[in-house]
Amino acid sequence: AKAQRGEHICYYEEGMDETARRRRQIANDLRHAIANGELHLLYQPQRSLRTGALSGYEALLRWQHPRHGFIPPDVFIPIAEETGSIFEIGEWVLRDACREAKQWPGEEKVAVNLSAVQFIKPDLVSTIRQILADTGLSPTRLELEITETAIIGDKLRALHCLRQLKAMGISVAIDDFGTGYSSLDTLHSFPFDKIKIDKSFLLRSENSAQARAIISAVLALGKSLQIPVLAEGVENEAQLLVLESEGCDEAQGYYFGRPDTPPSHHRKAVANS
Ligand code: C2E
Ligand code: CA
Ligand code: CA
Ligand code: CA
Repeated sequence: AKAQRGEHICYYEEGMDETARRRRQIANDLRHAIANGELHLLYQPQRSLRTGALSGYEALLRWQHPRHGFIPPDVFIPIAEETGSIFEIGEWVLRDACREAKQWPGEEKVAVNLSAVQFIKPDLVSTIRQILADTGLSPTRLELEITETAIIGDKLRALHCLRQLKAMGISVAIDDFGTGYSSLDTLHSFPFDKIKIDKSFLLRSENSAQARAIISAVLALGKSLQIPVLAEGVENEAQLLVLESEGCDEAQGYYFGRPDTPPSHHRKAVANS
């Protein structure tokens, strides 16, 4: 039994070692990803359920690694946050998304995800101001998506930052609402423009009465605080009907469209054909 336990521990440590090695490798390669042109953004549509109109696109980051192929953001973003690469990557994302949105024929918003560490960095506001000036995108077309982890640390700083962004005309959505640290207190004291219900609730809604109850509760909360609610992860019509009957404002998910090449490319493709 002792030997077996020994083997087990040894195996476990090798596993840990391999994970750590892979993380170090990713951290290293990430440093060159921007310069090598390995990053790009896809865009997923967001629909207004009141008018049926396209209201915006969420920019979602993709990394095509030269040897390992596609590495999902859920894997490399946390590593970039740990090593500090997230600042350069985040700035690249903001700039690319604003430049892209400026080319759209419509006035849809572009929603950009911000890491918590990015949000609390003192120069965020001036960086964004510079990017808007350089790209010529109207601040009213930029929406930032942050999770609650961005504001639980230094609440006063976060509130100050949020107010400055809003004063510029930028809107701010709270992402993944209902998971982690979500609390009523946060919603009450931070002037968010939108609540995004985490997709895990929609994905479970058909089989879980609890998930449905949480969706209803968040929709009621949004209504009473007068904050529009967007449901993410809408994959079928049944889910959409439930959201519509409960007065959800906006929706996003595979049912409306997967993350795809930039909208401006569609237009060019049509124009060239
Ligand atoms: P998120 O911000 O919650 O983004 C939504 C995720 O749900 C995206 O995954 C999207 O592709 C996926 N999704 C959309 N509709 C559906 C659906 O109907 N069903 C299902 N099952 N999934 C759907 P993705 O693109 O892999 O991104 C994962 C996470 O990585 C994002 O979650 C976000 O936290 C992070 N991320 C992505 N791009 C960026 C970025 O530019 N900056 C930062 N800081 N984080 C990013
Ligand atoms: Ca998001
Ligand atoms: Ca989300
Ligand atoms: Ca998420």
